[in-house]
Amino acid sequence: MIEIKNVKPESSLYISGKWQSGSKTICNINPSDINQNLGNFAQASREQTNQAILAAKNAQPEWEKTPIERKQIILQAIGNELIARCDELGRLLSSEEGKPFLEGRGEIYRAGQFFQYYAAEALRQMGDYTSSVRPGVSIATTREPIGVVAIITPWNFPVAAASWKIAPALAFGNSVVWKPANLTPASATALTEIIHRQNLPPGTFNLVLGSGSEVGDMLVNSKDVNGVSFTGSVETGRKIATATASNFVRCQLEMGSKNALLILDDADINIAVEATIAGSFSGTGQKCTASSRLLVMDNIYDLYVDSLVKRMSQLKVGHALEEGVFIGPVINDKQLSSNLSWVDKALQNGAELAFGGKQLNLSHNGYYMTPTLFLGTNNDWEINQEELFAPLACVIRVGSLEEGIEVANSTKFGLTGGVITKSLRSSALFKQKIQTGCAMVNLPTAGTDYHVPFGGRKNSSFGPREQGQYAKEFYTIIKTIYQRPF
Ligand code: NAD
Repeated sequence: MIEIKNVKPESSLYISGKWQSGSKTICNINPSDINQNLGNFAQASREQTNQAILAAKNAQPEWEKTPIERKQIILQAIGNELIARCDELGRLLSSEEGKPFLEGRGEIYRAGQFFQYYAAEALRQMGDYTSSVRPGVSIATTREPIGVVAIITPWNFPVAAASWKIAPALAFGNSVVWKPANLTPASATALTEIIHRQNLPPGTFNLVLGSGSEVGDMLVNSKDVNGVSFTGSVETGRKIATATASNFVRCQLEMGSKNALLILDDADINIAVEATIAGSFSGTGQKCTASSRLLVMDNIYDLYVDSLVKRMSQLKVGHALEEGVFIGPVINDKQLSSNLSWVDKALQNGAELAFGGKQLNLSHNGYYMTPTLFLGTNNDWEINQEELFAPLACVIRVGSLEEGIEVANSTKFGLTGGVITKSLRSSALFKQKIQTGCAMVNLPTAGTDYHVPFGGRKNSSFGPREQGQYAKEFYTIIKTIYQRPF
């Protein structure tokens, strides 16, 4: 069992300022040690989900008129507490999600930074003022909250992805109903407990744990929800876009990807290898920003592959809380079977296995596999077109910068893309031509800052950008006020 300050897992629904039990519970299995159930967490019924939506609707006007300095103090306090408790909460996150402790700790720290950043943004809400084309008339444009926001998040960044949505939603005066993924309920409960102690007007923030097909579906189809901010798979995103469009409810979707890292033949080999290790294998490859396609030019190909394989052999796979572990378990048995079946398919299609490709039986009974590298695949193979969410990458040979960019863009996704080069000219062309929302030069495709916009193109994103000042495009609506004096 896992300890969550002040809350019992079976009473982990938070509706209208009170903790509640649910209609049933689910187990929270530790992927590093599947014999360990971290707790039985509550699941919201349909009635409780409706209660949460109604509570948010009723509370929103009071929260909207709460002075901005009070909002700033609350968000700052939440951010400060996350940062102060990042060791403890990082361990909790890593226990249920499986990312190594340092990554879990880093995620909590980052979540704290999102709250601190939007605490400041709460004070920085400016409008515009201009003259009218009509004599004597003036015009002001102001921003207002959109109302009730449903926030639906995935398991792979259970606290950070939630925080980069919850913090701006609250900063701009919206109320929130949060539905996290069912695989990471403990982190969601711990974050909610911190928010609870800030005494927001009851109903301003609500947590409903439950399945996507029941609780999530109710949120996205509710006529009392004014906006849905979602991070998760393309399949779910498409359902949400369809449901919200039919009610004219705005949505913001961050979804899958198939990011490419392009290694040019003038690349610094150490930067190329370290960017690959961080981009392809941190978070066990379960990142929307992971580099799953490694596009490598001929003249550096052999050196790069040899150096990468050598470096991969040094990566320790193991229990998320064990010291020195770089790759934790994958999230569950379904994901592990999917990863191993991609390995089988690649081998059947004639790919060359350069490293890994195996399930690992370690002293803890968890969902472990080796980091995996394939050579000899083609960009149009399914393995290079579908998101795997696995510690698995494919090296694809390219003849030139231009060919590399074309291959990088030949996908239905467009979240991040990276190039490793010493050439200013090559990096300039790459930055200009890459069809992604984020472009990285001499950096891994994974790893972004908290104060600038984040998002992608094509099937990776839909709707306004998240994070930084751009978040207000989703969380506020503009009013244009025309005024003539008496
Ligand atoms: P998922 O789509 O299965 O679930 C995401 C959330 O949606 C969960 O809370 C789930 O319960 C909920 N959900 C499922 N069906 C729903 C429905 N019909 N209506 C409403 N809600 C529903 O995704 P996942 O497996 O949890 O996460 C992995 C995916 O998330 C990957 O595709 C990954 O690329 C993506 N992701 C994207 C980003 C990004 O910023 N682009 C960041 C992290 C993860």
